[in-house]
Amino acid sequence: MGLVPPRFFFALNLKSSKSCCMKKDKNPIASLRRQAEANQKKRTSNENSFDSEADCLKLIHELEVHLFELELQNQELVQATTDARLMTAKYRNLYDFAATGYFTLSKDGKISDMNFCGANMLGKERSYYKNKFLIVFVSNETKTIFNHFLENISDSNSNENCDNVFSSDDNAQLYVHLTEIKIKDNGHFLITAVDISKLKLSEDELKKTLTKLECSNKELGQFAYVASHDLQEPLRMVTSYTQLLADRYKDKLDDDAREFIAYAVDGAKRMEILINDLLKFSRLSTRQNPHSLTNCNKILDQVKTTLSLMIEEKNALITGDILPSVMGDEMQLLQLMQNLISNGIKYNDSKQPSVHVSVKDENNEWVFKVKDNGIGIDKEFYERIFVMFQRLHTMREYKGSGIGLAIYKRIVECHGGRIWVVSEKGKGSEFYFSIAK
Ligand code: ADP
Repeated sequence: MGLVPPRFFFALNLKSSKSCCMKKDKNPIASLRRQAEANQKKRTSNENSFDSEADCLKLIHELEVHLFELELQNQELVQATTDARLMTAKYRNLYDFAATGYFTLSKDGKISDMNFCGANMLGKERSYYKNKFLIVFVSNETKTIFNHFLENISDSNSNENCDNVFSSDDNAQLYVHLTEIKIKDNGHFLITAVDISKLKLSEDELKKTLTKLECSNKELGQFAYVASHDLQEPLRMVTSYTQLLADRYKDKLDDDAREFIAYAVDGAKRMEILINDLLKFSRLSTRQNPHSLTNCNKILDQVKTTLSLMIEEKNALITGDILPSVMGDEMQLLQLMQNLISNGIKYNDSKQPSVHVSVKDENNEWVFKVKDNGIGIDKEFYERIFVMFQRLHTMREYKGSGIGLAIYKRIVECHGGRIWVVSEKGKGSEFYFSIAK
C-alpha cells in the first residue's frame, strides 16, 4: 500500500467499509477473492440460493471496482517510473557533461564515480580512476590540505572548499578549487573541481610584477634622493658665486651683464626649490614614520600659525569645523593641510581669500574638504594638477614648482586614502582627501 496515492487509499477503505466481512482485513482484494470462492462453493451446493447469487454479484462488482482502481494506480506508477527514469537520465547527462569536474567519493576518499571533465582534469579515461583514491592524483605539496578537506567534509555542516593541485601521471599540474556539495548518496559524497590554473598563473604574474614594481620604485626613490641631495651643494655654489659676482662687480658691469646675472640667479633659485621639492617627494618612499593618533584641530592651528604672514598679507580668513583625530604621520598631515590651505590663499584673487576645512564621517574613512573662494580649476585639469611638475600657470602669474599636489597625493595614498578636486573656473575649488580610520 506504500505506493498507493491517497485518493485510492480512501476509495479502497470506503469500499471495504461497505462489506462487513472485510472491515478488519488488511488485504481487501484477497479477502474479496476468499469471499467469492466461499460464495461459489455455497452456490454449487445450493444452486437455487438467491442470497449467494446476490452476494456473488456484489462481490464481482467490488472486484471490478478494485481492478479499475488498480489499473489507475498502475498507470500512475508507470508514469512515475518513466518520470524518474527521465530525471535520472537528465541528472546523469548534467553530471557527465558538466563543464565542472564532478567526483563522487566514498567516505575514505575512493572515486566511485566521476564525470568527463573530472577525468579530463586528471588526464585519462574515467574507467582508469574508478575505485582509486583521489589523493593519489593530488600533488605532494597539497596532500595535507586535501586530507584536511576530506576530514572536514564528514564533520562540518558548511560546504567545505579548498585550493588544490591535481598532478597527473605525466606530472602535468592543474590548480583546482574543490568544493563539497552536500548531497549524500549511499554514504558517498560529491565534490566539484574548478580549473583555476589561469587565475593562479595571472595571480603569480601579478605578484611578480608587483615585486618588480616595488623594487624599481624603491630604486627610483633612492636615485631621486641621492640625485637631489647631491645636487644641492653645487647649486648652492652656483647661486652664491653668481650673487657674489653681481654684488662685487656691479659698478664694472653694464646693464646687459647685470640683467643676465639676475636671470642666472633667478634660475638657480628656482632650481633650488625644485630640488628641495624633489627631495621631499623621494623622502616619502625612503623614510616612512610610524603612524600615531593625530589631532587635526591642532594641525589646523599650527598651519594658521605657520602661514600667519601670508594670511595677513592677503587678508585671508581660515576657518574650520571641529576635526577628528586620525591615525597618521603628524608631520606629513601637517604638510598636506598646509599646502592645500596655502594654495587656497595663493590661487586666489578675491579681496578676502577664505579657506574652510570641514570633514565627513564616511563609515570606514574620514573625508576632509578644503574649500576656497579662489580662481578655480577647469574640469579638464582635475587629474593633471596631481602630476609632478604640472602647473596651470606661469611663474609670473603664481610662484610654485608644480610638485606640491604630487607629494600630497602620495602622502594621502600612504594613509590608505584618495585625493581629488571638484572645481569650476572662477568659482573656487574644493579639495577632498580621505584618511582610512
Ligand atoms: P604649485 O602650487 O607649486 O604650482 P601644486 O602641485 O601645489 O604646485 O599645484 C599644481 C597646480 O594646481 C598649480 O600650479 C595650480 O595651477 C593648480 N592649483 C593648485 N591648487 C589650486 C587652488 N586651490 N586653486 C586653483 N588652482 C590650484
